[in-house]
Amino acid sequence: MDILIVEDEAEIAQLIQLYLEKEGFACQVCRDGLTAIQLFQEQQPDLIILDLMLPGLDGLEVCARIRQKPGAKDPYILMLTAKGEEIDRIIGLSTGADDYMVKPFSPRELVARVRALLRRSLRHGSSSQTYQTQHFSVDVEQRVAQRRLEETEEPLDLTTLEFDLLTTFISYPGRVWNRTQLIERLWGSDFFGDERVVDTHVARLRKKVETDPANPKFIKTVIGVGYKFEDSVS
Ligand code: CA
Repeated sequence: MDILIVEDEAEIAQLIQLYLEKEGFACQVCRDGLTAIQLFQEQQPDLIILDLMLPGLDGLEVCARIRQKPGAKDPYILMLTAKGEEIDRIIGLSTGADDYMVKPFSPRELVARVRALLRRSLRHGSSSQTYQTQHFSVDVEQRVAQRRLEETEEPLDLTTLEFDLLTTFISYPGRVWNRTQLIERLWGSDFFGDERVVDTHVARLRKKVETDPANPKFIKTVIGVGYKFEDSVS
């Protein structure tokens, strides 16, 4: 099995399954958290699409248990939430989710995100690059990002997308990126959807890397174009 879909709303689960199977992914669906844990242990999926609100164990609990399980295969987790649910906690990512989508979402965008996550797992290990600027360092292979402020280094708790966004920025300090270019980098050319999704992820990344996200020092907006990353290269 490639993908486990954990969703108690049958129509949504079917829709996701339909789109993913059309793309050639093998899927299994379950409707509650306990079954999800059981299937995860038995089948070792590469990726789990995990609804937040579930009967029994909720998505956050399922996510936490999967991440705590030592030795097991570490799947990518794409969380689904309804508007107004605990989005902040997912974004805070004490949960260990790699990415999330807010309902209602476009199935095509979901497929694009799934592809992007799985593509990463294929690439994983082949890149051994690290990037360093005065205040940041990114190890692409280990997928570790750190921020250095006033001599203290602290690891950044980033989603997969945020990590790739920071890596993109840090790999070309000073380069101006438009949204289309960033989408190509993050989701590939098969992205369908609204380009403003980039702004959302930039805003979230700023919250994690900037001391004052309202007055960003590193990730600057280039009016009428997009964004650029500024930091001196040591
Ligand atoms: Ca639900």
